[in-house]
Amino acid sequence: MKLNEKRQSFLKMLPGVDHVLEVAGTKPIFEDIPKSVLVRCVRSVIQDLRIIILDDKMDIKEEDLSESAILEKVKTCAQNAMTPNLLRVINATGVVMHTNLGRSILAAEAVENISLVAGSYSNLEFDLSKGVRGSRYSAVEDILCEISGAQAAMVVNNNAGAVLLCLETIAKGKKVIVSRGELVEIGGSFRIPDIMAKSGGILKEVGTTNRTHLKDYESAIESDTGLLLKVHKSNYSVVGFTAEVSVKDMVEIGTKYHIPVMEDLGSGTFIDFSQYGLLKEPTVQESVATGADVVTFSGDKLLGGPQAGIIVGKKDILDRIKQNPLTRALRIDKLTLAALESTLRLYLDKDKAIAAIPTLRMLTLSYDEIAKKADRLYNLLKNINDARLSIKLIDLSSQAGGGALPLLDLPSRCVGIHVKGLSVNTVERYMRNNTPPIIGRIEDDLFIIDLRTIQEDELQLIESAFSGMFRDL
Ligand SMILES: *Cc1c(COP(=O)(O)O)cnc(C)c1O
Repeated sequence: MKLNEKRQSFLKMLPGVDHVLEVAGTKPIFEDIPKSVLVRCVRSVIQDLRIIILDDKMDIKEEDLSESAILEKVKTCAQNAMTPNLLRVINATGVVMHTNLGRSILAAEAVENISLVAGSYSNLEFDLSKGVRGSRYSAVEDILCEISGAQAAMVVNNNAGAVLLCLETIAKGKKVIVSRGELVEIGGSFRIPDIMAKSGGILKEVGTTNRTHLKDYESAIESDTGLLLKVHKSNYSVVGFTAEVSVKDMVEIGTKYHIPVMEDLGSGTFIDFSQYGLLKEPTVQESVATGADVVTFSGDKLLGGPQAGIIVGKKDILDRIKQNPLTRALRIDKLTLAALESTLRLYLDKDKAIAAIPTLRMLTLSYDEIAKKADRLYNLLKNINDARLSIKLIDLSSQAGGGALPLLDLPSRCVGIHVKGLSVNTVERYMRNNTPPIIGRIEDDLFIIDLRTIQEDELQLIESAFSGMFRDL
């Protein structure tokens, strides 16, 4: 296809990569940009312009080819390249443990300890009292035993890893009896049957989807049965005509036939949430007290700590687990360990834990406290004083998320926003592209900000995002 004359001349006007690099080299704004990034950006800006010139369906003007226009594009490209990919975001969804947004945010104590341990050497695997090599788990083992009542404890990278490690240690090549109602899939491709297969354990399903009885477990026991496993139905619930066997009853037959019992609690908690007007979740202490041999749970679900898999239980089994070479592959990192220890210490005083651990604080916030925050945001946004902005206060429900308390609707107060002349999807996109991004939800043509998951210092940032949007429009 033949280009028209104007486009032919545009093509000739396109500067060479070397020339643009030379000019950029004289500009202070490019001083801190690594050479490789700058070269890549200059090449891609020129290449993009060439594509536009060659496509006569795309608009291009002479000034788009000016040196300053090209440098401006290079600057945007370089700035994007230099911005970290992992960013702070504002969680306006009301989902407290939002797995896509990092699940739990840490207590200040935990954040402080991470930075301390990250920036200096530590006694990670060094026994200071004896002056010899120590265990990585000793930092948290005693405290986990104290809070849970277990004989022994250890931690790995995450709960999926904890379950795999326990199954591999206890039940490799043996049958593991699990209720059909508990063969769960947790988001992100964690499925009990798949993990079981990877561990070398042989899944023996018993009961039905809605009802499993003690006799189902008992009659399934054979000479090669290695484990009775209970899995918490974290993210769903079976209602209606249902029956499940308690860990206590499972422990009874486990003891009778000398078969260990394991419970994967998923979102393990040390707090009895029914005391705070929420639904009851089984606690780690309760599971340990029933006599379960091994209990596993996540560090970053209801515990409100860093990503980790926590294993507590009987000393003989924990000793075997600790000797499994897989522990090395699933090993917890020192920054995580620092955060986990600080988080666990807060649990020594339950009231302190609720106040200091953001996940617990947000889950137990009263409607009135949320409504006060909502009023403050409402007033901040009103002060923008733009006729296009309409703001409403609305009652909606927030969710716990993170595969915990799936049936629980937490009454919450939200701000709903409509901008005249903009679709709600455009508003949502604007907020998502803000610095920091604000992730809300859309309901009834409104952009919804649920105040349950908004931190105090974020109210002003939300106000700035909207004022900025109106300046740009
Ligand atoms: C969430 C969950 C897991 C996986 O835990 P991670 O810490 O995300 O690896 C395993 N089992 C159950 C029952 C869960 O709810």
